[in-house]
Parts: sequence; structure tokens; C-alpha cells
Amino acid sequence: MQLKGKSVCAGYAVAKLAIYDRTETTVVRRKCQDVEGEVKRFEDALLTAGNEYERLYAKALEEVGSSSASIFKADMVLLEDMDYKESVINIIRTQKVNAEYAVAITIDNFAKMMSKLDDDYISDRIKDVREVYNKVIEILTEGSAYSNKYNEPVILLADDLTPGEIVRLDKTYIAGFVISESSANSHTAILSKSLNIPALIGVDLYGYVDGQGNIQLSETVSPQFEGRMAILDGYSGRFIVDPTDEELKVYDTRIKKEMKNKQLLNVMKGKKTVTGSGRKINLYANINGEKDVATALINDAEGAGLYRSEYLYMERDEAPSEEEQFVMYRRIAESLGGRRFIIRTADIGGDKQVSYIDTGVEENPALGYRGIRISLDKREMFETQLRAVYRASYFGNIAIMFPMITSVTEVREVKSICEKVKKQLSDEGYPYRDCEIGIMIETPAAVMISDLLAKEVDFFSIGTNDLSQYTLAVDRTNDKVQKYYDPHHDAILRQIKLTIDNAHANDCTVGICGEMASDADIVRKIVDYGIDDISVTPTNILMVREIIRNIN
Ligand code: PEP
Ligand code: MG
Repeated sequence: MQLKGKSVCAGYAVAKLAIYDRTETTVVRRKCQDVEGEVKRFEDALLTAGNEYERLYAKALEEVGSSSASIFKADMVLLEDMDYKESVINIIRTQKVNAEYAVAITIDNFAKMMSKLDDDYISDRIKDVREVYNKVIEILTEGSAYSNKYNEPVILLADDLTPGEIVRLDKTYIAGFVISESSANSHTAILSKSLNIPALIGVDLYGYVDGQGNIQLSETVSPQFEGRMAILDGYSGRFIVDPTDEELKVYDTRIKKEMKNKQLLNVMKGKKTVTGSGRKINLYANINGEKDVATALINDAEGAGLYRSEYLYMERDEAPSEEEQFVMYRRIAESLGGRRFIIRTADIGGDKQVSYIDTGVEENPALGYRGIRISLDKREMFETQLRAVYRASYFGNIAIMFPMITSVTEVREVKSICEKVKKQLSDEGYPYRDCEIGIMIETPAAVMISDLLAKEVDFFSIGTNDLSQYTLAVDRTNDKVQKYYDPHHDAILRQIKLTIDNAHANDCTVGICGEMASDADIVRKIVDYGIDDISVTPTNILMVREIIRNIN
């Protein structure tokens, strides 16, 4: 049986399924003579729990950014709450009982007291307290108070898991998570990323087709899944239950390849992107949204070299507001923590249509109303985006890039709009930074006048996806002509070289952000031509780093 979900952490897992079990065995009450010994045991357990939360917070901060990581900070505050602590110690001393029992009783007492208040906030807080202190019980009982104990790898199924539940799990045998909750901001989604455990969300786990082909429905995760063999594909979102031998073989090969990549990750992570002779190349990630930032950081991106902001404009009925954009750009800038963040203004049109902009019937959409042409036409929408970008610039290391440029006039026009926006923001009292301005070099026209364009801007980014389609007259979306879509073609390579030479002669840096920048041969060539920055799909970063480090 094959189900589909949304991947929140890439990777594969092939293992038996286990449904997360929320039943907890009762904590036993024991009389203790060594009361102070029990108090010490409790205090040590608090410290151990605190360290685990601290470790997870640091990991999450690094890998998923401060806003997502803050859930651990809140838990750490609860652990230090003096009222709970005093109550536990008091029960140990007055009743002369074991620490885990005193913790369990304290949680129950507080829960009873607080539940009388009948308030949503309070009941959420009871849940948080319970989770945090259950972790302490787990440490005190060395896990024996909980039922989720595995001695072989499992793919864990649940409706959703709270941070406390995930923290309490012994992760040694968790090969993956499959969750029915579908929010990419759910705790499981955030935590699986920081723990780097493959995970799918939004999988319908409530129904199951039985051996007779009948659909069995269940109110909780269907018990039918328990103990079955399954494959979790955290790249495609596939969840295969009872896989065939053939499917197992296919995934065995994929897992071996993935393991090789992971080794690469271990070797290349933290290393500098320099050639053998010591030349530094900036190695960035292409991102399409906030969801890609964590992957970029895990793969050691030195920044985001291309943020395709048009994705924020797609699949909706109207353009995003200034505030919505500002919040998103600021969040990404902050998650990137000072690394360079190149925001490309919306490249709408062509193969990325939106319902609220009428492009009319176009014979050749790729040659039509798209990119900077729409921006210069729909001024209000363009200025709204620029205001959001400049406002966010105060919170990170943002640069602005414009797509589909074909003339100097266009560049001068966008620069004057930037000046106007900056002036407006100054008048309104908004802080901003004077961002570097760059353009995509993705039309043959831009290549041919790159000497003139270089005088106008701080940087170029060569978009070989479009440059190849326009140069070779091959529609990049048409399968029938894909064999003509050859980024190794001399016509492309010569244009890259010409662009770099013209840029460098005019004090302008050059990056490349098309797909071909992940190809080993191309990487060697463009480094030889003098490229300054390379921006690729996040998962290709470390591979490209390895190639660069092997260039003399
Ligand atoms: C390109 O054209 O090479 C590019 C990186 O931009 P996009 O793929 O978004 O058109
Ligand atoms: Mg392009």
C-alpha cells in the first residue's frame, strides 16, 4: 500500500512500524530512609533534563532558527520553576518517599488545581508542565515508567508528537516519523529537522485497506499499521507499507547512495570552500521559501544566493502585503544569522503564473510578460515588495537582485525606484540598510552588454536555466526538446566567460545560480574562469565544496 505525505526532513527509512503509545505505567511509591539522597537524585535529574533541553535548543537554533527553537527555551524555563521544585522536595522530605513519586504527585496536584480555572491557556500550560516533568520521571526511572521502548529500529507513527514526547523518546531506534498532522510548523516537523530524522507529515493514518480491499477507518492512528514493514521516502513524500521485494531492492540502493552523501557531509561540513591554491569561492544555497533555510544551514550554506521570492506570490488570490513580506524576509534573514541573503524580486510570468496578474494569452510566455517587465509595469506591487525588502534589510545581510534584465535602462529604472523607496522609508522613520544591488544575467542581451551593466550594479548572478533556453532556443519546460538543452554547449560557456571578464573589469562580482552549477565539469570550468560565488540546491552544496577543494 502506498500513502503520500509531505516531507519535512529528507532521508530514507526502511523499518517496522510502531504506533506511538501514550499509556504510561504508574510510578511506584516507595518509602525512603535516605531522604536527602532522594532530593539529590531529583536535583541531578533536573540538571540532566535541563542539559538535554539546552542541547536540543542549541541544535535547533543552529538548524531551524531562533523562532522554532524557542519551544525548548520555554521548556527550560518550566524546569527551573521554583514552585514545582519546592513542592517535589517538600513531598520527598515530609512523606519520606522516592523522588519520581514526588514528581508525579506534584504534577497531578498542580494539574488538578489549574484545571479548575477552565482556561485554554492554562490547560496548554498543564500539558507543558506534564511533559517537562515526565522527562524528569523518565530520567529518575531510567525510562521504565514509559511504554515506548524499542530494541530495533522503528518508523514511529502518531497523530502528532509534542516536544516533550520527542525529547523523552530514546532516539537510538527511531528511524523515522510519519505523522498525520499536516502543519509544517508542527513540533514534530520542527524537531525531526533538528534531530535530522526523516519525517513525513500529513499522511492519512486513520484509514487502512484490509486484505479484502475494504477500507477500515479508525479515530486514532489505525492499529493495523503496528508491526508492519514500511519504507519512508523523505525525498518524494512516499510512504510504502508492506513493500515488495523489488521496492526494497530499489531503496536499498538509494540508501547506500545516501550513506555515501552523509559521509561527505561529515567530511565537508565546517570546511572552507577554497580551491587547492587557496582561492575562496562563496558557496550559497538557492531557496524557494523559508522551508529550505534549515536544509541550507544543515548543508553548511554560506548564505542564500538566490531566494525565489515569487513563491510567496503563488497559489493565492492577491499579492502578499508589505507586512507579510517584511515578516517573512526578516525571519529568513534572522535565521541566516548574518549570512548573505540575496532576495530576487518576484520573477512572475513564464512558467510561474499567478491568478491576479493578467498576462493575457501569450504565444511564447517565456518571451512575454514576466520578471522585471511585470515589476516595472505593476509599480505599486513592486514598490510594496521593495519596501518590505528594505525594511527587513535592517535585520540581516540582505542584497537585492532583479530578474530578466535586458537593458541598462531597466537597471537605471529599478535603481531609481529603490532610491524612492529608501527615501519614503527614511521619511517614515523606518531603519534600513543600503543593500547591494545585483541583477540576473539570464538573457543573451544581458551577456552582450555585461560591460555596461557591470558599471551599474554591485553584483551579477548568471541564471543559466534561462540563459540556456534563450541562447539555445529550447523551451526549458518542453520534454520533447530536452536533448537540445545542453548547458555544456560552448555558446553557454563562452557567455559565462565573457560575463565574468566584463564584470571583473568593472569592479562587479559574479555568481552563478542555475542548475548547471552543480555539475562537476562545469564547476571546474567556471572556477577557472574566475567565478566569485556559486549558488546551488541546498543538498548539493557539500558535493560542490568537495569539487572546489579538489581544484588546484
Ligand atoms: C535561472 O534562470 O537560471 C535561475 C536561476 O532562475 P529561475 O530558475 O528561477 O528562472
Ligand atoms: Mg531565471
